[in-house]
Amino acid sequence: MSEDLLDIIGKMSYDELKTVERDLSMGIPLMKSLVTNRMQELETSGKSCAVCGGNLGGKDNVFTLVFGPAGLKRKASFCAIDCLGYFIDRLKEIRRRSKEGMRLAIKNS
Ligand SMILES: [Zn+2]
Repeated sequence: MSEDLLDIIGKMSYDELKTVERDLSMGIPLMKSLVTNRMQELETSGKSCAVCGGNLGGKDNVFTLVFGPAGLKRKASFCAIDCLGYFIDRLKEIRRRSKEGMRLAIKNS
């Protein structure tokens, strides 16, 4: 890792190093953005939207929802806010039906 970083720094021009130096002096907002974007690329590479199945790889704006009970957390990603909204509506519907089913079971026992 550190050798890779030294290699990258060794290949940078003076102007590129000045940009990095300026970024460091400002609390590294540029580096943070680059790292966050690259992490998102890696996280979504080869993955698809939980609703429409669209490829998420390389998309700039991916929505991710973490849900479920503690210890059984699940994660789903979506290509657009419409797909996220549809998924949440389906979760609400499942929950509503589950509550209705429990009410009926209690009523019938
Ligand atoms: Zn989608």
